[in-house]
Amino acid sequence: MPKKSNKEIVLKGIAAAPGIAMGHAFLMDQQDFIVTERLVLAEEVQIEVARFEEAVLNTKIEIQLVKEKIAAKVGGPDAQIFDAHLLVLEDAMLIDEVKKRILSEKLGAEFAFSQVLNRYVGIFDKIEDEYIKERSADVTDVGRRVLKHLMGESRLHDFESLLGEIIIVSHDISPSDAVTMYSKKILSFVTDVGGRTAHTAIIAKSLGVPAVLGLQDATLRISNQDYLIVDGRKGVVIVDPTEETKRLYIKEKTKIAQYEGSIMNTRDVPAQTLDGRRVTLMANFEMHGEIPGVKKYGAEGIGLYRTEFFYMNRLDLPTEDEQYEAYRTIAEAMAPHQVIIRSLDLGGDKFLSSIQLPKEMTPFLGSRAIRLCLEEPEIFRTQLRAILRASAHGNVALMYPMIAGPGELRAANNILKGVKERLREQGLQFNEKMPVGVMIEVPAAAMTADRLAKEADFFSIGTNDLIQYTLAVDRMSEKMAQFYEPGHPAVLRLIRRTINAAHDAGIKVSVCGEMASDPTLAMILMGLGVDSFSMSPSSIPQIKRSVRSVKFADIEEFSKEALRLSTGLEVEEYMTGQLKKASAEFYSYEAKP
Ligand code: PEP
Ligand code: MG
Repeated sequence: MPKKSNKEIVLKGIAAAPGIAMGHAFLMDQQDFIVTERLVLAEEVQIEVARFEEAVLNTKIEIQLVKEKIAAKVGGPDAQIFDAHLLVLEDAMLIDEVKKRILSEKLGAEFAFSQVLNRYVGIFDKIEDEYIKERSADVTDVGRRVLKHLMGESRLHDFESLLGEIIIVSHDISPSDAVTMYSKKILSFVTDVGGRTAHTAIIAKSLGVPAVLGLQDATLRISNQDYLIVDGRKGVVIVDPTEETKRLYIKEKTKIAQYEGSIMNTRDVPAQTLDGRRVTLMANFEMHGEIPGVKKYGAEGIGLYRTEFFYMNRLDLPTEDEQYEAYRTIAEAMAPHQVIIRSLDLGGDKFLSSIQLPKEMTPFLGSRAIRLCLEEPEIFRTQLRAILRASAHGNVALMYPMIAGPGELRAANNILKGVKERLREQGLQFNEKMPVGVMIEVPAAAMTADRLAKEADFFSIGTNDLIQYTLAVDRMSEKMAQFYEPGHPAVLRLIRRTINAAHDAGIKVSVCGEMASDPTLAMILMGLGVDSFSMSPSSIPQIKRSVRSVKFADIEEFSKEALRLSTGLEVEEYMTGQLKKASAEFYSYEAKP
């Protein structure tokens, strides 16, 4: 790794979740993988060999890229270490032994590889020679990279052994990694890749911790245990800060804590503008540890329950009863408020080890969400049965993700109808009138909103995907972040169209994407007529405060005007300027970084 100077280093990335964290770095990609024994069928051994060869090839390409990057940044000598890594991958003995063990013992590729790797490391470690010891470190390092390619999303990190409070530093954090983090004391997330609506950002917000993403080379510039300050408002990470910087940030943290204390006073007051327009503020929900948080921040229900997290990091699918218990628990905990359960949104970047899907060129445009559920009706039916049964115990609604038009809505409702009939035959209780809504997150859905509104009980606009698909900008990519413009006129027009169609048909519209938790953008949405918002629980007090500090008549006017502008930047600047003029307290302290 390149040597660092003893001065503090300031890294700039994307501000993905607000707040300040101070603590030690934990480099995730440097932790060991847990590789369990896996046997394969005789006809699968060739596939395992091919997977292994592909992983080795991809690792070589990856190392080559890192080498070039380092060479360009700090010069040739520091990059030499990667030549040693490449040599490990060219070691015919090691490679052949792995293949032989796959073929003769019918082992899964990652298991065979880790067995051979451990044997090599064991031999090296016994030899008292500095050069050999270094080789052992190289083998371990390369081994991790190969395993990452082999295990991909299904890799499990040994978080259980972690005790202290840490700042996770990683190239990326997959949704399945993120799930394992709910039970840990994570202070913050720092990653090389990812944008404002990447799942890491969503998880960070739901944990209420700051995140700076898209730093590009954070994992190269930060070492394990480095002391970091993460400023999630400004998108800045300071490595090895000076004592003076630390003092400054301790003061800032105190100010934020005071501010947060003050906005918590609004917990029990309604989200109502100065001139009496009332909106509903609900919580997005991913995991069960969050119920106390949801209540603490005064959410008026769950506007989006992302159920896919429930399916992750396990080898089997959750049973109907398991799901029923989970949905029922939250329905009872939130009653009389509504809990909107979203049916499975798998695909894209969220995969399961229990459902093997063919690899797609562009998974976000592939068999994702409702499409996958329609292709796998048994999985869908099991979930629908669980949701319907939970609807007997609270105010439960169902919504379908990624609907592109009435055809898919009808197909999904058809399956729902069959599930209801079967439950009736079995004498199982459910709410016959359970509302069924549609997420509007595909431009085609917004364009056919008038049709959809006739067949749906409510709409929930998923701005994270709606922006991605409207502007053709990958929501996960830090490189595309500059093009990801929530205020883009095309996005606002689709949203306005959706709201008008819903209101014409007499149904309500919510927004459950990240746009809802940005005070400036949320005001545009309110001005366009949105009835409710759903966001990470910790964002609720701030948005409530924003709603309570403006007049709806003003906001409506500003939004109308914003729709006449030409770019997302113009819209945000215009709105910020108007809000500053209209309300002295709107941007006091943390509302705008
Ligand atoms: C969205 O797309 O805005 C949304 C809320 O869904 P997700 O972020 O889970 O895709
Ligand atoms: Mg979505």
